[in-house]
Amino acid sequence: MSKIKIAELFYSIQGEGRYMGVPSVFLRTFGCNFKCQGFGMPKGELSVEAENVDPSKYTEYKSLPLVSTGCDSYASWDPRFKHLSPLMDTDAIADAIVDTLPYKEWLDEHLVITGGEPLLGWQRAYPDLLDHPKMAGLKEITFETNGTQRLSDDFKKYLFKWKNAVKGREITFSVSAKLPCSGEKWEDAIQPDIVCQYEWFGTAYLKFVIATEEDRDYALKAASEYRAAGFNGHVYFMPVGGVESVYNLNAKSVALMAMKHGLRYSDRLQVPLFKNEWGT
Ligand code: SF4
Repeated sequence: MSKIKIAELFYSIQGEGRYMGVPSVFLRTFGCNFKCQGFGMPKGELSVEAENVDPSKYTEYKSLPLVSTGCDSYASWDPRFKHLSPLMDTDAIADAIVDTLPYKEWLDEHLVITGGEPLLGWQRAYPDLLDHPKMAGLKEITFETNGTQRLSDDFKKYLFKWKNAVKGREITFSVSAKLPCSGEKWEDAIQPDIVCQYEWFGTAYLKFVIATEEDRDYALKAASEYRAAGFNGHVYFMPVGGVESVYNLNAKSVALMAMKHGLRYSDRLQVPLFKNEWGT
């Protein structure tokens, strides 16, 4: 039986992208290949807000402070917080997932596998999880990824098998490609050939986090690089804002930018609805 290090597991409403408003179970895996310390910072500066959180003061993931700069899920990859993310076997994860469902069985809910970066090494554990009898009624999965991880050959074969085993099953890759405002390097973050590969197995779309006109310009440049590589999916603009004050400043202007360029707008419903607290 495989094991996965789980930062969070909760039931909520998907607040972003294609499944906005859909009741969803979120499985947040531990680990990421990026740090994204540039979010919300003046150009060229990196946030140390998360670095200033003292891990020894916290015994539960959900009691950690929220940050307004840098990665808003810092504890899902920063090794200083790994003690808050238990390594669980896939049987226990399947039990815990189904236990969050209102009727303890799959109806119209969808599973979001997020992170961190969920397509790191955990790819090899997902088949055991998804083949668990309690997961048989699941029809829709989204991987929320930064779009930099290739799928292994074994996982590709498995995804084809999973999708075709039951009529109506869908796999979505919600690709939050990181622009320079994240603090990550363009050549590391924008990997069109990898994202095009995701389209072989289901629906893939790009979701760019935007705060400024410069971000918009970078997003348009990135989108054209993905298109040039053959990417066919939708492109969303989503306002920066892990906290309500920042989100409120950006939401309308980002919606207007999306309209102007004929692109889709994604809200972040978890911010106005739930203040983006852990577990939402
Ligand atoms: S890719 Fe996502 S989870 Fe990883 S550091 Fe960046 S914002 Fe955080």
